[in-house]
Amino acid sequence: MFSDFIDMLFPRTCLTCRSLLEKNEELICTHCRYELPQTNFHLQADNDLARKFWGRVPLKYAFAYLRFVKTGKVQMLLHHLKYYGKEEIGEMLGRWYGNELKKSELAQEFDLVLPVPLHPSKLKKRGYNQCDSIAKGLAEGLGIAWDSQLLVRNKATMSQTRKDRIERWENVEDIFSVLQLEKVRDKHILLIDDVITTGATLEACSLPLQNVGCKSLSIAGLAVGFS
Ligand SMILES: [Zn+2]
Repeated sequence: MFSDFIDMLFPRTCLTCRSLLEKNEELICTHCRYELPQTNFHLQADNDLARKFWGRVPLKYAFAYLRFVKTGKVQMLLHHLKYYGKEEIGEMLGRWYGNELKKSELAQEFDLVLPVPLHPSKLKKRGYNQCDSIAKGLAEGLGIAWDSQLLVRNKATMSQTRKDRIERWENVEDIFSVLQLEKVRDKHILLIDDVITTGATLEACSLPLQNVGCKSLSIAGLAVGFS
């Protein structure tokens, strides 16, 4: 009853179409949920995202939940997640994706989910790492462990909104590092990013994981953009 009263004062609306949410809906209405442009890359090992990394990082799998299109619903959701404090959207979408992945046989493949870390200065400014919430939801959906403390970001070089290709002169290996090597060694790691565009961040992030001897490496994005 009290929640009905709160709903009356502060109507809950869909983040993408602003229609009123039903009681059983959270953040996104059912109509918008089914309109989300899923890539289904997890059903096809040789997909457009995997091809992005050919000759750059040896990946076992590369997939992303949604296709990022400027001015579309996915962009709106990502803006809420990254700039308007809606941390919970990452967890919810991550869980939906994890549930989807679990229907395929991929769930048994991975040992550990690791989010791409933020630089401490950025974390302090935003108050949370949006990749943590995605990783948490996705790991829950898959039924495997995740850890936000193993990977750290030492440099805030590539900005979140302008992820250019890493310049050759830059010491790429120093951008990220692994803290507890034994937790990563001989594990199949699933690395999580919010939006994959050039793949430069994931490429830099994969280096220390490979250097400490993870068994294999796969990547998953909440969204992927192709320009
Ligand atoms: Zn909607």
